[in-house]
Amino acid sequence: MSYSVLESKVLEDTPKESRVAINNDISDMSDYDESLETKLFTKDGVGYVQLVDCMGSDLSIVNAARVSYGRVSKEFNEKDMKLLKYLWTHEHTSPFRHETISFKIKCPIFVLRQWMKHTIGCAWNEQSGRYTELKYGYFKPQDWRLQDTTNKQGSIVIADETTRQQANAILDETYESIENCYKKLLELGIGREQARIVLPLSTYTECVWTASLQAIVHFLDLRLDSNAQYEIREFAMIILELTEKKFPKTFQMLREIDFIQEAPI
Ligand SMILES: Cc1cc2nc3c(=O)[nH]c(=O)nc-3n(C[C@H](O)[C@H](O)[C@H](O)COP(=O)(O)OP(=O)(O)OC[C@H]3O[C@@H](n4cnc5c(N)ncnc54)[C@H](O)[C@@H]3O)c2cc1C
Repeated sequence: MSYSVLESKVLEDTPKESRVAINNDISDMSDYDESLETKLFTKDGVGYVQLVDCMGSDLSIVNAARVSYGRVSKEFNEKDMKLLKYLWTHEHTSPFRHETISFKIKCPIFVLRQWMKHTIGCAWNEQSGRYTELKYGYFKPQDWRLQDTTNKQGSIVIADETTRQQANAILDETYESIENCYKKLLELGIGREQARIVLPLSTYTECVWTASLQAIVHFLDLRLDSNAQYEIREFAMIILELTEKKFPKTFQMLREIDFIQEAPI
């Protein structure tokens, strides 16, 4: 059953007086849980990560491990800290999978494409360019970086002011032309699923990512690294900040063993 069929079925089954509320609830992703405070933006002020749900705590990790010998800890103590470190350093990782966090993310498609390669312990749902017009704009870099001559996938030095201005001019012109194409195709009555083929990888999209704590730590291990692209590292820094607040003891342990190391951005 498609979403739209499902949606109309829900409406059919709903008493008339509640329908307006349901429509309001699902009308626009931008209305989704805006009241939550834990929403942090990237430097361009457009991209963001918002923590929308969290299950578990530092304590639930050690208690999941302790079920092996029928014990529970009520308050996190020194013994728990030692156990936490023992579990991680001996790859007894299953206790780190009961804890999950859901994030709402707004990021360019090229960032999400890298992010979505993280699959194990992760659930993904993304805005559909078939159901909706993609109207959140395009990513504009704060700085332009020049191609690294030794690391083929990297870029290091920040471009000088003249190059920066030229690159910005090319980008602005391209985005304007693309935006016109997309709108004109839609005005012609072309379906959204085909009109979107002109959109670039820099188009902003929205998604929900739910991941186990182990999967989040694995993501951070790879994407805080200096080898990861700057633009995804910016998001990884936010994921670190939001997750560390929820699991402070776990991150204290990961920092103590040098597992989590943010490369400067
Ligand atoms: C700097 C960098 C450059 C990259 N460049 C490219 C690129 O050029 N092209 C490209 O396609 N991808 C690229 N990737 C993506 C990379 O190959 C991984 O797909 C991505 O980092 C997700 O990591 P993962 O596979 O460990 O995560 P997950 O898929 O979430 O897997 C987590 C862990 O589960 C285990 N696992 C997962 N699947 C299996 C399996 N089938 N069998 C056994 N164990 C499994 C592994 O231990 C794995 O580390 C790059 C990643 C980085 C960090």
